[in-house]
Amino acid sequence: MKLGLIIDKRRCYGCQACTVSCKAENGTPPGVFWCKTYLHEHGTYPNAFIEYEARICNHCDNAPCVKVCPTGASMKMDDGTVQIDLNKCIGCEACVPACPYGSRYPIKESTPTYWETGKQTEWEKAVQPRFKVGTVSKCTFCVDRRRRGLLPACVQTCAGGARIFGDLDDPNSQISILMREENPKPLPSKFGAKPNVFYIEDEKIKPHR
Ligand code: SF4
Ligand code: SF4
Ligand code: SF4
Repeated sequence: MKLGLIIDKRRCYGCQACTVSCKAENGTPPGVFWCKTYLHEHGTYPNAFIEYEARICNHCDNAPCVKVCPTGASMKMDDGTVQIDLNKCIGCEACVPACPYGSRYPIKESTPTYWETGKQTEWEKAVQPRFKVGTVSKCTFCVDRRRRGLLPACVQTCAGGARIFGDLDDPNSQISILMREENPKPLPSKFGAKPNVFYIEDEKIKPHR
């Protein structure tokens, strides 16, 4: 199995439901965005366009973040995702600049919280251990939701139907069919990373990269 994601830029209209649902599902602290969508303006009136560029960890095949991790905390899993074992992470942050796509966030004493200790909701208390001071965090492709048979939150909530998630090794999966039909491209494979997030471009807009 190799899990991957296609983002169809023809269908994305920048609503940020993915950004917000990721925060709600994973309880990421202020300033930590495992999932985000950039807005780029192109052209001039009357031929102006906005390009929405959704970004997320690419769960790379040859992930530089895994290669530089001195403790084995960053791992490539059997399902193709890249995960961090917080019990092994020593917070050295070697993986942060090693990621060419800015997908990793160190959690420090100075990392703010949305809530004060003792005033959290039950959900906020439940997700807080995911953000241990002295470790690094990043998108997990919603590992806890997937264990319950659910799609990642960003995929579930994408109102435009722009996010297609599934097994790239299964020739009959929707993502594999789209890979064959649309030939989507990943972000440039810096440091030989080989990303597993692919973009279908909107032909009327020249991509920002
Ligand atoms: S996008 Fe960055 S953090 Fe995610 S697997 Fe690739 S190198 Fe690692
Ligand atoms: S911060 Fe943690 S995950 Fe990143 S390289 Fe260091 S030990 Fe590995
Ligand atoms: S939820 Fe879907 S349509 Fe909205 S910004 Fe994210 S990818 Fe685009």
